[in-house]
Amino acid sequence: CGIVGIVGQTPVAPLIVDALKRLEYRGYDSAGVATIENGELARRRAEGKLVNLERRLKAEPLDGNIGIGHTRWATHGVPNETNAHPHFSNGVAIVHNGIIENFAELRQELMADGYEFTSQTDTEVVAHLIARELARGTKPIDAAHAALKRLNGAFALAIMFKGDEDLIVGARNGPPLAVGHGEGEMFLGSDAIALAPFTNSVTYLEDGDWAVVRRNEFQIYTMDRVPVERQRRQSVGTS
Ligand code: GLU
Repeated sequence: CGIVGIVGQTPVAPLIVDALKRLEYRGYDSAGVATIENGELARRRAEGKLVNLERRLKAEPLDGNIGIGHTRWATHGVPNETNAHPHFSNGVAIVHNGIIENFAELRQELMADGYEFTSQTDTEVVAHLIARELARGTKPIDAAHAALKRLNGAFALAIMFKGDEDLIVGARNGPPLAVGHGEGEMFLGSDAIALAPFTNSVTYLEDGDWAVVRRNEFQIYTMDRVPVERQRRQSVGTS
């Protein structure tokens, strides 16, 4: 399973699929990619191998210079297209590796608030939590942080917002996640191998970290929102 995010300069969907291929060694049962196309969130998802997703993308290409992608190893909900990531809720798109331990409690709370669930995943609560914050008037980064604070469990997350084509929020608590540094573009990935086609300069988040990633800047924070610097490394021999 794996995660890729790109805030780029050219259409990102093919780049994301290429990076996901480099994460195939981790195993997965379905895959998906979302971009912001003409100002709207758009996605393609497919059960099974990445060739199935590539076939979907060939039939219905996805435009957009910002995007997130995922290979899923199902823990909650069967491996099918509906449960495949990215998951959407009112202008929020997310991909997740890991398990949200308190998803049942959160799901109940969100359903009581009128949120409708379209998948059987634990992941979908995160999309709705962030959407609910946005609906309360909270700005995207603050909404993501507020939602992250509600989560127990293991997660690597990448979050994208319909209204901001220069923003991906990443978070790590368990499964690895790294920021990849480009020239006027920035990346997120489960590891340096996934990011090797784009950059060999990476910064791994530590457990409990989350990051604001834009084309020309990034900032990592602790869960208490203290800005932190993590070691930037040159990866070699991974491409
Ligand atoms: N728990 C999530 C799901 O079942 C994410 C699984 C993964 O790590 O890919 O959809």
